Amino acid sequence: MFVSQALMRSVIPRAANATRCVSSKEVFAREEKYGAHNYHPLPVALNRGEGVFVWDVEGVRYFDFLSAYSAVNQGHGHPKIVSALVEQSKRLALTSRAFYSDVLGEYEEYITKFFKYEKVLPMNTGVEGGETACKLARKWGYVKKGIPKNQAKIVFAKNNFWGRTMSAISASTDPSSYDGFGPFMPGFEIIDYNDASALEKALQDPNVCAFMVEPIQGEAGVVVPDPGYLTKVRELCTKNNVLFIADEVQTGLARTGRMLAVDYENVRPDILILGKALSGGIYPVSAVLCDDEVMLCIKPGEHGSTYGGNPLGCKVAMAALQVLVDENLAKNAENMGNILRSELSKLPKDVVSIVRGKGLLNAIVINPKYDAWDVCVKLKENGLLAKPTHGDIIRFAPPLIINKAQIEESVEIIKKTVLSMGSK
Ligand code: PLP
Repeated sequence: MFVSQALMRSVIPRAANATRCVSSKEVFAREEKYGAHNYHPLPVALNRGEGVFVWDVEGVRYFDFLSAYSAVNQGHGHPKIVSALVEQSKRLALTSRAFYSDVLGEYEEYITKFFKYEKVLPMNTGVEGGETACKLARKWGYVKKGIPKNQAKIVFAKNNFWGRTMSAISASTDPSSYDGFGPFMPGFEIIDYNDASALEKALQDPNVCAFMVEPIQGEAGVVVPDPGYLTKVRELCTKNNVLFIADEVQTGLARTGRMLAVDYENVRPDILILGKALSGGIYPVSAVLCDDEVMLCIKPGEHGSTYGGNPLGCKVAMAALQVLVDENLAKNAENMGNILRSELSKLPKDVVSIVRGKGLLNAIVINPKYDAWDVCVKLKENGLLAKPTHGDIIRFAPPLIINKAQIEESVEIIKKTVLSMGSK
């Protein structure tokens, strides 16, 4: 049966509603009504971002202290990254990997030389990067280490977070991630984070092919391991012929004050996972880097993605990486992070009991007598956006382009907010 054009126009809502001004309340109500309830956002409806700032639909400006979970390291709408996106989208956006494109090889050469690995496997999201790393590790375990078929094990650390797929939640120790979604992926083992003896013990099992770990646990609340932990991880993995997989999706790309968080200990993982800021928040791009010994275990047809390695994502990623270098963002993250933590540590302990982090990946722990959600709502009212994690922890991770005056202004907002909590 044919539906007339006039009828279709009357029943299909105009996506171009964006041209009409909507209030924050309307934005909240529409998402509540038509969207899945799998997030619990702070009550702020954004419609514009530039640099370290975002604006809501009423035109109120906020410091963005979440940076889309560290995807927007280069700042909102960085002109060089936007220009790469616009130019390439006019030429050729997507080929799929059924054909070659003239951009993929250019990007592969660029990123492998950038991080000093022999090969890269391009994907889109961080969790796909984690999945890819696990598949590579298992395949290497069978082909190179000689693990009997279907017996390979991967070790993870307690409180890890690498996404929401079935594999990622199978590695999770957070009931809100995994509860109600079983059965889970076999061959995953969990040990304590920051515990080299637990790792030493776990790696005695000859069927272990990899240890996958975040150099700083981001979603767990910015948990920084003891100095020397990553060096020990490297030593133990080498000694036991086990791959060291570093999940740098959140910590990588200058966020912690170095290009990679593992650079603090000068260790080189066997498999490196990157995502988020690999596109500066402009487009989903992730990557898995390793050497031929591991990467070439996977043969044509054994892994892939329609969008992975598309010309648009490749150009955006090259621009995003170049911005990190050209603007010396690792150094800026280190300097601004030092100022931020030193100011935060002067806050009353009665409200902010702990301050921790590296570079511009930081967190404060709120005394349980206050609610971190309420603190975030007040921060928002005072002009700064941040989100609680695990109830009592608030992450402070602004774009890495933030300058000293902006850090100082943000600190004033945080101080004012915290002091107003204390006087409750
Ligand atoms: N790995 C880490 C360390 C993360 O923090 C995240 C997301 O927060 C992921 C992986 C998953 O990335 P994505 O949400 O892009 O799939």
